Amino acid sequence: MATEAVTAYLGLGSNLGDRQANLDRALEFLGQRLRVKKISSIYDSEPVGNIEQPRFLNLVCEIVTNLTPKGLLALAKGIENKLGRIGGHSGAPRTIDIDILLYGDEVMETPELTVPHPRMAKRAFVLVPLVEIAPDVVHPVTGKTAKELLKAAKEVQGVFKWEGV
Ligand code: AMP
Repeated sequence: MATEAVTAYLGLGSNLGDRQANLDRALEFLGQRLRVKKISSIYDSEPVGNIEQPRFLNLVCEIVTNLTPKGLLALAKGIENKLGRIGGHSGAPRTIDIDILLYGDEVMETPELTVPHPRMAKRAFVLVPLVEIAPDVVHPVTGKTAKELLKAAKEVQGVFKWEGV
């Protein structure tokens, strides 16, 4: 446990099965272990990198937690496993993917965990929902707000608000 509560941001994505239900269940599991304070709209996005796979639904949530970054990662991986994500390389389709985007103003780089998430500043599917719920949150390495990062991001196409099926 961390000594005090920390505000953190998680990015959730799903591109297999009932994607909306997967996101809902992941939020439910998270809510059993920490406080989910804000949840963005759901966005439909093009897969990045390996584009030969289904489109994603993504959202970002703001949480308050006493878990350490590693404890939070363990929780995220536990939920991924519970929802049926079984290994797979990092570009593979997934029932649910949970990334730690920001953890307070923590900056860390270990073999299993890098915070802030190393690719968040370039990914519109992360920045668009993050700006919706926390436009002024500051990336502790670049010193830029989420809003500024989104403005600077080159590839902002392919991310649409999800209107449901
Ligand atoms: P991926 O398949 O792209 O979701 O990568 C998952 C792996 O990335 C996990 O096993 C983590 O150990 C590692 N990882 C490193 N930094 C982070 C982060 N900030 N959030 C989530 N996973 C991370």
